[in-house]
Amino acid sequence: MVTLSPYSIQNPINKKKLYEIGESTSQQVEEVFNNARRIQPVIKNMSVKKRVEEILKINDYIITHREEIITRIVEETGKSRFDALSSEIFEVCDAIDHFKKVTPDILKDKKVHTPIVLMGKKSKVVFEPLGTILIITPWNYPFYQMFLPSILAFLSGNASIIKPSEITPLKGVVEKILLESGFLKDAIQVIYGGKETGKQLIDAKPNKIHFTGSVETGKKIMEQAAKYLIPVDLELGGKDPAIVFEDVNIERTANGLLWGSFTNCGQSCTSIERVYVQESIYDELITKLSYNISKLKVSDENRNYTEPGDCDMGCMTSESQTQIVEAHILDAVQKGAKVLTGGKRIPGSLHFPPTLLVDVDHTMKIAMEETFGPVLPVMKFKTEKEAILLANDSPYGLSASVWSKDLERAERVAKCLEVGNVSINNCMLTEANPALPFGGIKNSGFGRIKGQWGLLSFVNIKSILIDKQSSIIEVQWYPHTKTKYGLLTSLIIYLFSRSRNLIKFAAVGMKLDKIGSKEKIK
Ligand code: ADP
Repeated sequence: MVTLSPYSIQNPINKKKLYEIGESTSQQVEEVFNNARRIQPVIKNMSVKKRVEEILKINDYIITHREEIITRIVEETGKSRFDALSSEIFEVCDAIDHFKKVTPDILKDKKVHTPIVLMGKKSKVVFEPLGTILIITPWNYPFYQMFLPSILAFLSGNASIIKPSEITPLKGVVEKILLESGFLKDAIQVIYGGKETGKQLIDAKPNKIHFTGSVETGKKIMEQAAKYLIPVDLELGGKDPAIVFEDVNIERTANGLLWGSFTNCGQSCTSIERVYVQESIYDELITKLSYNISKLKVSDENRNYTEPGDCDMGCMTSESQTQIVEAHILDAVQKGAKVLTGGKRIPGSLHFPPTLLVDVDHTMKIAMEETFGPVLPVMKFKTEKEAILLANDSPYGLSASVWSKDLERAERVAKCLEVGNVSINNCMLTEANPALPFGGIKNSGFGRIKGQWGLLSFVNIKSILIDKQSSIIEVQWYPHTKTKYGLLTSLIIYLFSRSRNLIKFAAVGMKLDKIGSKEKIK
């Protein structure tokens, strides 16, 4: 029996309670799965063109109602309106714009090469939906995380069920968009609750799970999914390094590092979580970073979050994450790090100023564990080799950035980093291109979203080999005679040796065909 313990949703800017949600009941879980399974064959039978038209209804609605949506996002997350506009609204529309163009081609049947030994046959690959996709999302980009996978799942013919985070569920927002835009009913559904609801949803056996969240929860989800062999994509945390070489433009690089660390108040799995600076420019860069931080308009309790330009940097979303940030800073300071800016929240609030830490090393949590807050720990390096070693000395492998005028060096370093995504002379920018797949390695998870690879993660990639009807018995079919064994051996030698002999291979092939056309099991 599931207990309906409520989760209290609050506005992190002023800590005012907004509403409550509870765990969903087993009947509600059953209902969303029944709806999804009823509508999915309809989606499957729609042309890709028609699916794109449906998705464009969502797109149009979002553009028209963007300010109303942004207000809801800001109210539950505490992010700045600019962050909500650029990384939730823009990113969803950008993904739709890309996939409306490329999906028809990606999902088109593909003819593939058929080898010479299979002469006369044809091979193709077709892409079919998996069924119902369960999407479990985190609290940091609630709107984007709900829409991106559900849009890709729909375009590839699936129904999806979204379980948003119980911290920022945006209750009713997605449903309103779907309903008022006239989007196909039940093709994308939302169900609320916390981990109990999540567990029940997995037990209802979706055909795939797309999860974004913490490493611990990712492991639990994978373990539960393993019982039913449900495939999972796990987009987990990150500890993204930025490597800054001495030949950079300091002003531009400092600006990039600040945004990469403090966007969404640092609550992004791809935000810059540690910076390695080549020692000759270390002092100059630190001075620039401190100065630029002092100019930032930072969130406080007097923020008017309904006003565009309310602040450069929003506040933390949850108390528990803020405590992690504080614990990491305390641990670093106890081990010798120095706080140059920020370091402490405004008492009693979730407003945390941008924090610059120096004298950091890898014995500290701030360098090794995901902080997920507005903290920029800076370390020095001497050589390219050392920078790569330091960047790779991490349990995570999501993204990284490399900053240098020497693009050859930057690309060489990018290729040495144990991560899924690298931006050169920029940060978090691989995510801005929907044609690039996004995902991690190591503790950052596996699976890819976006790019053709991301779209294909929602389909059954089916292989079809087409032969004609005839009277020929294939060489590998019974009976397995001594003559056939000898001919097959010759065929292997003539075809696969380095000195391949296609004339002799053809002669053997003809002999085998002749045997095949007469053969019967006696
Ligand atoms: P965060 O959002 O802080 O990264 P989690 O990884 O715990 O935190 O949560 C991400 C999402 O996973 C949320 O929607 C949460 O409700 C859900 N969740 C948490 N535990 C489980 C679980 N055991 N099974 C399924 N979903 C879960």
